Amino acid sequence: MSAPLTLPRLSCRKCGRTNPMVYLAPVVIEAEGTCICQDCAEARQWLDRDGNLRPGIEL
Ligand SMILES: [Zn+2]
Repeated sequence: MSAPLTLPRLSCRKCGRTNPMVYLAPVVIEAEGTCICQDCAEARQWLDRDGNLRPGIEL
């Protein structure tokens, strides 16, 4: 019997959205975790034009 691969449940640390399509800086502890969704990162101007995290930004 093979267990299905379960993805960790991530919720955004800023807006609380669960399992955003694109996220940054996931912190997962035993299948439960938090991240920053891309919308929040963009809203805070943490991303450059290419969608990469700006240097010096720590999430
Ligand atoms: Zn968010």
